[in-house]
Formats: sequence, structure tokens, C-alpha cells
Amino acid sequence: PDTVRLLSSSQVITSVVNVVKELLENSLDAGATSIDVKLENYGLERIEVRDNGHGIKAADTPVMAVRHFTSKICTHDDLEHLETYGFRGEALGSVCAVAEVTVITKTEEDDVSTQYTLNFTGGIVSKKPSHLGQGTTVSVLKLFKNLPVRRQYYSSTKKCKEELKKVQDLLLAYAIIKPELRLTLVHNKVVLWQKAKVPDHRSALVATLGPGVVVNLLPCHHRQEQPEIFLEGFFPKPGADYSSTSSSNPDKTFIFVNNRPVHHKDIMKLLRQHYTAQYPDDGSRSRYPVLMLSLTVSPSSVDVNLTPDKTQVLLHDKEAVLIALEAFLVSLYGFRPT
Ligand code: ADP
Ligand code: MG
Repeated sequence: PDTVRLLSSSQVITSVVNVVKELLENSLDAGATSIDVKLENYGLERIEVRDNGHGIKAADTPVMAVRHFTSKICTHDDLEHLETYGFRGEALGSVCAVAEVTVITKTEEDDVSTQYTLNFTGGIVSKKPSHLGQGTTVSVLKLFKNLPVRRQYYSSTKKCKEELKKVQDLLLAYAIIKPELRLTLVHNKVVLWQKAKVPDHRSALVATLGPGVVVNLLPCHHRQEQPEIFLEGFFPKPGADYSSTSSSNPDKTFIFVNNRPVHHKDIMKLLRQHYTAQYPDDGSRSRYPVLMLSLTVSPSSVDVNLTPDKTQVLLHDKEAVLIALEAFLVSLYGFRPT
């Protein structure tokens, strides 16, 4: 049974960035407005995520890391109205099978915080009082210590640096979609990046992509009924050549569906087509525009269960979404690419 658990956990927890994402989303689901992400040795020695969210109730702590425990949905019906990032109750338990995990948490009702040390199956092996304020701190030590091949993947500095870049890109995405969130990234005690709480997406873009960014981006929004689709975002101004310096990597093309950073092939294709159609054959064709697109659709019309990391989504009304987006892009850029 240990081998089975290890195998299934290693399918849920695949990388450093994947652990950061799961912990960060738990913090956001807990209503955190301030999150600190700390890594040691690229996350291989330690990944720590500290938040000021509502904490974990003492009654929930024995089961918090038990596979399939979630405090977020009760009935199948809740899935239709999903407003949290998590709902499967898989992350914390899975991390326990591939690393050493401790959780420090304090709710409003608790007098002091408690530190829990968890075992391979997510059970509590020990607990003791600790000194942190309200919120939760999850520490993940020695990730993949029992999966030598996975660990081996990170043996080159190049791979480690790539992983760190992925963590940074991930945090950027959440920083953009959550302007009110204070977020920091520390690596080996050095602050690599930080973002203060800001009032809106525009300021969040300034804070994340730099002050020059807003000059080239146009705020836009579009709402339609039946099916209900709300599109908003910041797009390169018509005529402004504003693509990512990286030609192969869409790392500045931020797409969100119901506040989730996602990859969506068809949406990306449409965005690039309309953007690059402005510049026939000057080489920008191969580049990705710097932009933010946030799509809001009914929770019941999105399925985020396609991949364990929930970065691929199935839109039940995909055609309607693409048609709405296309109409929106045509009105922005003024023509229909051939
Ligand atoms: P899920 O997010 O799908 O519910 P997880 O395994 O990620 O599953 O987390 C299990 C449970 O632990 C959550 O449902 C929540 O009750 C609790 N939890 C985990 N992290 C936090 C956090 N940072 N703040 C508050 N509660 C948390
Ligand atoms: Mg979760």
C-alpha cells in the first residue's frame, strides 16, 4: 500500500512549482491577503508558504492531510458552483508521501498557533505550541527524497534555475489576477521578488511587469448573455508592437478562466492570430503578445479536472467563448485575420 500511495502521490505532486501552486492556492482559498513563499536550494531542501488566512480548525487538523479530505465542498452540487481553487483534497496528503511536512496554524478562536508534524500517510505524529499569528504555514522539506529519479531531474543547476523561473512566472500570474494580495518570493534568504497590495489589475500589471507596461496596454471589457461570458483584460494597443522578448515562451501572455491561470491552446491561438495579423511578415508572427485576458464564465460550464495541476480547462461553451473573444478582438484591432 505504501508503494501505491507513493505512486499515486507522485502523479499529483510532480515538481517544485507544482507544490508551490497547491500551497498558494490553499492560502488563497483560506482568504489570505498576504502570502510569503520561501525556497531553500530551489525548493529541494525546503518550500515554505506562510499565509494570514483563516487557519485550520483544530477539529480538522487530524484529517487535513488525509487523502480526499477537503473542507471546501460537501456535495456534488457544490462542484457546479465552485469558487475555490481546491476541491479534491489531494494535495496536502500527496505531498506528505513525497516529502517531510509540517503545518503551523492558528484560527481566530485559537489562543496560540500549533505546529503539527505529519507522516507519510498524512497523519499527525506530533504537535506542539508555536508562536505564529493567525494563518497557516506549510513547510515541505526534502521534496522527492524517496523518489531518486525525480530528485535526479534537479541535479543540474540549469534545471533548478528553470524551475525557479517557473515559480516566478506562477507567482506573477497570481499577483496579476489578485491585485489585493501581498506576495513575496524568497530564495536562500534573498528576496527575489515582491508585490505589495494594490487596488486594481492595472496597478497589478504595473507592479509585476514594470511601469512601462501600461503605456502599451489598453484596458478592455466585454459582457455577453447566453451563455454568460465576461471578458476583460489588457491588450497591446493597436499598432503597438508589444510582444514578449521570448519568442518560444508565452510567459507574458496571461490567460485566466474564473481567476485560474490556465493554458488554453485555442484561446492562445486566437490571441496570437489577431495580434500578429497587424504585422505581416516582420517576424513578430512567431512571438507572443504581452497581455492579460480574464474570462469569467459560469462555474458549471468549466471543467478543471483535465490534469492534476488544473492548468488545462475544458470549456463546455468553448465555441461561444471563442466567438465572443474573436468579436472582441475584431472590434479592438479592427479586422479579421485571414
Ligand atoms: P483541497 O484544497 O482540494 O481542499 P488540500 O489537500 O490542498 O485539498 O487541502 C486539504 C484541506 O486542508 C483543505 O480543504 C483545507 O481545509 C486545509 N488547508 C490546507 N491548507 C490550508 C491553508 N493554507 N489555510 C487553511 N486551510 C488549509
Ligand atoms: Mg488544495
